[in-house]
Amino acid sequence: MEQKEMIYEGKAKKVYATDDENLVIVDYKDDATAFNGLKKGTIVGKGAINNRMTNYLMSQLEKQGVPTHFVEELDDRRTVVKKVSIIPLEVIIRNRAAGSFSKRLGVAEGSDLLCPTLEFSYKDDDLGDPLINSYMAKAIGAATQEEIDEITRMAFAVNEFLKEFFAGIGIELIDFKLEFGKTSDGQIVLADEISPDTCRYWDIETHEKLDKDRFRRDLGDPEGAYKEVFARMGLGK
Ligand code: ADP
Ligand code: UDP
Repeated sequence: MEQKEMIYEGKAKKVYATDDENLVIVDYKDDATAFNGLKKGTIVGKGAINNRMTNYLMSQLEKQGVPTHFVEELDDRRTVVKKVSIIPLEVIIRNRAAGSFSKRLGVAEGSDLLCPTLEFSYKDDDLGDPLINSYMAKAIGAATQEEIDEITRMAFAVNEFLKEFFAGIGIELIDFKLEFGKTSDGQIVLADEISPDTCRYWDIETHEKLDKDRFRRDLGDPEGAYKEVFARMGLGK
């Protein structure tokens, strides 16, 4: 697999073309951003942790019948994935109130929810990824009804697997964000990443935050939190 030109540099990853037009290489950075890029920093070691965690979880999800973009881990930071056209919706699932949900609806962070929720944000940095519903998403051509049905079904299936997996290592999965894309042959697959950058993880006993909120909210030692989750997953050295 030959790595060719960089085709995109995002906030947390770079994406490179390869000699296969259906495959790209993602390269995870230590850069951390929050509040739509307003807060910037570095979480040392994050790139390697997020790369390996994502690959581990996607491999497990494949076994559960959830198709993903994962192909092959190249090294600590780089992974070959199927090139997809990303559906421009961030799919957010919540099991407990936190973050923007708590703020928007006036529900204290940490409150129980009577059922898991799903919401979409329209992926557009200039607009600050606004909340969008399925009618709006269809109206602007972000996704079709069939695509919305499929990603909704897949996102809840991912939630069932992840909730149980993390509970098994003493972590409550509070909420998370997924992205889906379409491969060249039209299949919808789970893409992007599943990591402490994109999930909220609380220790089941102490409720300590083990995710990017440590960076966003200046709670201290984000590196330690990422390493802790990595180690509990059995991936730490
Ligand atoms: P951002 O664009 O939000 O700054 P990243 O730094 O994570 O995010 O950049 C990675 C980019 O690659 C994102 O725009 C993401 O949607 C996109 N992406 C993720 N998986 C794939 C894939 N399999 N094929 C093509 N693009 C992908
Ligand atoms: N999230 C993400 N990328 C985004 C927005 C949110 O990965 O651009 C994740 C975030 O880490 C959290 C979940 O989605 O696990 C819900 O985030 P929320 O809407 O509460 O937003 P925030 O409080 O981060 O502004």
